[in-house]
Amino acid sequence: MDFLRYAERSAALVNAELPDEAALREHLADRSWLHRSVVTDDVAALETFRAELRPVFEASQADDVRLVVSQLNDLLARHPVTPMISDHDPTHLHMHVANRAASVAELLIGEALMGLATLVCDLGATRLGTCSEPKCDHVFVDTSPNQSRRYCSDRCSSRANVAAFRARQKAVRAQHDGDAPAAAAAQ
Ligand SMILES: [Zn+2]
Ligand SMILES: [Zn+2]
Repeated sequence: MDFLRYAERSAALVNAELPDEAALREHLADRSWLHRSVVTDDVAALETFRAELRPVFEASQADDVRLVVSQLNDLLARHPVTPMISDHDPTHLHMHVANRAASVAELLIGEALMGLATLVCDLGATRLGTCSEPKCDHVFVDTSPNQSRRYCSDRCSSRANVAAFRARQKAVRAQHDGDAPAAAAAQ
C-alpha cells in the first residue's frame, strides 16, 4: 500500500468523469489487471462515493479538522476494508486494501479512504483542497513542503495568472481613461 499515492488517486477519482464502464477502464489505464473486473455496478457505486468524498476535501480546504476527521470516520465505517496480500506481480508481493472478492469500486473506495486517513494522520487534516481557479471544481492533495498549493493543476495555475494579469491591465487602462479628461483640462 502506498498511502500517499492512494490519497492522490482519491483526488483523481473525485475529479474524474466516469459515466460508464469504458470511462472507468480509461481511468484505470495504468492498472490493466483490473479492467476485466469492471462492471456497471462499479460505475454507480463510484458515482455515489465521489459525491460523499468531495465534502472531505471542502472541509479540509476550510481548515475544519474535526469535520474532516468525522467525515472520514463515517466513510470508513460505511465502507469497511478487508486487506490482502496480492501476487499480481509475483516479484513484488504487496498489500492491497481490498481482498480478491471485492469489486473494483470497493477496491478504489478502500484505497481512497485508507490513503486519505493515513495522509490526515501523518501530514495533518488540512492537506486537501479545492482548486482556486473560479471556473474549476477539481480537488487536490497538497504535499508541498510549506502547504502552499492553491490549484489542482499547472493549467489552472497559469490560467489564474493570466486572469490576474488581465485584471491588472484593465485596472491600469481604467485609470488612464480616468486621467484623460483631467490631462485635457490641464492643457
Ligand atoms: Zn497491486
Ligand atoms: Zn483547477
